[in-house]
Amino acid sequence: MTSFSIHGVGVSSGIAIGQAHLVSNALLEVVHYQLPNHLIDDEIERFSNAIKTVKYDLEQINHSLRKSAPAEISAFISTHLMMLEDKSLSEIPKDIIKNEQCNAEWAIKLQMDDIVDQFDQIEDEYLRERKQDVIQVVERIIKVLLGHPSQLPIEQQTSVVHQERKLILVAHDISPADAIQFKQHQFAAFITDVGGVTSHTAILARSLNIPSIVALQRARDLINDGELIIIDGDLGVVIVSPSKEILAEYKLRQEQWELEQQKLQLIKTTKAVTIDGTHIELFANIEVPDDTAAAKASGATGIGLYRTEFLFMNRREMPDEEEQFIAYKSVAEAMKGAVVTIRTLDLGADKQMNPDSIVNCANPALGLRAIRLCLSEPSIFHTQLRAILRASHFGNIKILIPMLSTLAELRQTKLLLERAKISLRQENIAFDEHIALGGMIEIPAAALSAEAFAKELDFMSIGTNDLIQYTLAIDRTDDTVAHLYNPLHPSVLKLISMTIKAGEKFGKSVSVCGEMAGDSKLTKLLIGMGLRQLSMHPSHVLSVKQQILHSQISQLNENARKILGLTDIEKIEPLIAKFNLH
Ligand code: PEP
Ligand code: MG
Repeated sequence: MTSFSIHGVGVSSGIAIGQAHLVSNALLEVVHYQLPNHLIDDEIERFSNAIKTVKYDLEQINHSLRKSAPAEISAFISTHLMMLEDKSLSEIPKDIIKNEQCNAEWAIKLQMDDIVDQFDQIEDEYLRERKQDVIQVVERIIKVLLGHPSQLPIEQQTSVVHQERKLILVAHDISPADAIQFKQHQFAAFITDVGGVTSHTAILARSLNIPSIVALQRARDLINDGELIIIDGDLGVVIVSPSKEILAEYKLRQEQWELEQQKLQLIKTTKAVTIDGTHIELFANIEVPDDTAAAKASGATGIGLYRTEFLFMNRREMPDEEEQFIAYKSVAEAMKGAVVTIRTLDLGADKQMNPDSIVNCANPALGLRAIRLCLSEPSIFHTQLRAILRASHFGNIKILIPMLSTLAELRQTKLLLERAKISLRQENIAFDEHIALGGMIEIPAAALSAEAFAKELDFMSIGTNDLIQYTLAIDRTDDTVAHLYNPLHPSVLKLISMTIKAGEKFGKSVSVCGEMAGDSKLTKLLIGMGLRQLSMHPSHVLSVKQQILHSQISQLNENARKILGLTDIEKIEPLIAKFNLH
């Protein structure tokens, strides 16, 4: 067997060596056949039973894995359950069976094709992701109709688990519902043909902490079941049927990687201080209150970004003030006096409440999202501000505003915050009168006006995920341009640097809470540029801390100055790699 490699986008680090396990695509197995009149009712019943089975399976998965599962997955399963209840999937196929006198598999597939066509016509980026969800749900229904046993049985024997550690899942796409079962399994890695850096699959891979590569395009066609493959999650490379030499090299690299992960645990309680005594604050990003457990276990000393929009997703009603208050208070209390930075609602673009709330606009990432949405819906914003203020009495809470682009938005926000405070004072409800108000710098306009924002804000947090998207005009969820999404573009570095300098000038703290903060290859650069606070996914805290412990500020400043002086993007990455060695 000749060896070859396939390139995709690495979304979760590490090296895995194992046998390819191809996840079948049930949609390809559907055939069409006609049914005589007297069998139509039975076929409709068979279809209804399949819907019930899928619903039951999803509910079981949701129920059994609620505690251990990453929060995002439970939300995805709820979306799939909601889709299953929708008439277009649960009722219309029955009419098709009756009218076309066809088998149930064919009817649901026809209906799916119709829905997918509608999505395609709208050409909306977010809807395209939802389209994938519809396909995943239909695949599940078809698998049941075809009588396929569940590919990932929930109960596992120890011997099976042992074998799984050597299995690498190869799929066209992996639905969140399938992926949730990974928690009960111990696959070595997974790779998919589709997906962007911030696709559901990518988010999930990072939270499971196993190597993963997406956007491989034809991996499922090119790789055979049982074939030996190597996954390099850092480089985004899959090596199929490696030679003896390559295999030996990767085995060595894998052992070294695992050893490093174990060694990192030793610095969990060590303070993040450079050799010359500069303290760097390492905070965690969280999505739901339960994430505080992972944040604390990682050694993070506070929450630098609590993405509150997750509380608003996969539901039809907005959470009321009491529900929000309970959530925010529980985070404040869990962190026992450590900083908790609560970001106000950042809904819109790729983050919608539910499929019904999707608004069709040409460029959702440039549309009514985040603070723009909150200012256009003051009563929703008022409710959230009151809930955050009330929770501030129970911990060390700061408020963070997403997507600021003008001072007018900030001033309007301040007025609404004051109005929320007045309403609480009138009701004699306690809150932190001096609660800090910060702003996300994630739109180039805000970075270019960072001094003006620094004057009027208490702190700033750089959202590099969006800052890169808007500076480079690269949709962060689109895998076809993922290779162009480069955090080290000189213009991105310049905007980050301007924001840090503005903070220094006006004595306001500046942090980074985008994915750049968790990339340990960039830690020395960011510290050298003047950052003293970074907020990241809990799984990255220790590798970032290790970089800090080996740093000398004066050297980092000098290195950062040289990197910022470069205008050629090709030279930046090698120079960072060179500096990281020292
Ligand atoms: C960012 O844009 O960098 C950020 C942290 O916010 P989000 O990823 O939630 O848009
Ligand atoms: Mg953002």
